[in-house]
Amino acid sequence: MIKAKYPVEKFLQLQTPFYYYDMDILRQTLQEVNRQVQKRNYVVHYAVKANANPVLLREIKNAGFGADCVSGGEINAAIKAGFPKEKIVFAGVGKADWEINLALDQDIFCFNVESIPEMEVINQLAAAKNKTASIALRINPNVNAHTHQYITTGLNENKFGINLSDLDTVLDLLPQLKNLKLIGIHAHIGSQITDMTSFQSLCVRINEIQQYFFQRHIMLEHINVGGGLGINYEHPNHFPIPDFENYFNVFSEHLNLQPHQTLHFELGRAIVAHCGSLISKVLYVKQGATKKFVILDAGFTDLIRPALYQAYHRIENLTSDLPEEEYDVVGPICESSDTFAKNYSLNGTRRGDLVALRSAGAYGEIMASQYNLRSLPKAYTSDEISAL
Ligand SMILES: *Cc1c(COP(=O)(O)O)cnc(C)c1O
Repeated sequence: MIKAKYPVEKFLQLQTPFYYYDMDILRQTLQEVNRQVQKRNYVVHYAVKANANPVLLREIKNAGFGADCVSGGEINAAIKAGFPKEKIVFAGVGKADWEINLALDQDIFCFNVESIPEMEVINQLAAAKNKTASIALRINPNVNAHTHQYITTGLNENKFGINLSDLDTVLDLLPQLKNLKLIGIHAHIGSQITDMTSFQSLCVRINEIQQYFFQRHIMLEHINVGGGLGINYEHPNHFPIPDFENYFNVFSEHLNLQPHQTLHFELGRAIVAHCGSLISKVLYVKQGATKKFVILDAGFTDLIRPALYQAYHRIENLTSDLPEEEYDVVGPICESSDTFAKNYSLNGTRRGDLVALRSAGAYGEIMASQYNLRSLPKAYTSDEISAL
């Protein structure tokens, strides 16, 4: 089994479970995204909800990215990390009044609005502050992302965005909402998308929507196509950096941008997933009636993706070179869904071994909970660990 290189000696001094962030991988990823977008003049906003660890946020801000926020808490975290206000976008189907007021006070770049009632509230709150809110209409493009149903967002049956059939009503209403300024459109069809034809379909749909806006004599300055680029969870050692070139090429080739228009992206997972691992200690190896269980000190309170989306994370035993055996790898939490992998081949495993759950940098630490009154997992960067 090919394994990643980890500072195992240093790990053994630390209390498990914890998240480990490899800053070299993060930096290489950010560099590659920048290399691809700079030649195309695209703008990338990092989707803060994937991971809001302050050290990572600062690194991403320093690389020149904007921030895509889905709550007031994320707007505060982005500002604290130093993201410029004019690079912050705010999406979400249920923005509370205090969150809208915060975004107005901070003069963020754009609200991605998702319904008529939301537009009315933003208009009213902006009027009370004598401000004009820049908005992009988040459109539900009815495009299938071919991903897990819980992370599909762009189908008519989903709660997100404005349906195409309601666009007439929205545009008829807009002139009355004097404190809103329409600057663009936005769409986000889902997450962990590996089939590029889904993004191609999104481009085709946006081209149609653009035609509709031309017919209504509305100029859109900004087109925001959201995020969703998937990563290779099976082979993080072979493909530690997603194929951004191929991804951005889909948009260069299939989206008809006007010369005055700027294309925006909101990538989360593809930027931070591979740099993170959850490091956990083996508490027990237990012989069950029909199979062997490896019982870790990490559970779904630390990494919920397998329990929530039946997600796969590669697992490596960092301290064993024994011949491989098959195990169910489980956590200590009192729920049967607290299972990381079934019938999984690991090097022969014993109590006290350290394992790495790979590609856990996105939707890992940020989704941790204290269920069973457990402590939240700690997090270390490779910079911190090498200074130990
Ligand atoms: C979650 C989300 C993203 C990021 O999705 P990834 O799959 O992590 O790239 C982008 N935009 C919006 C509106 C989101 O909700």
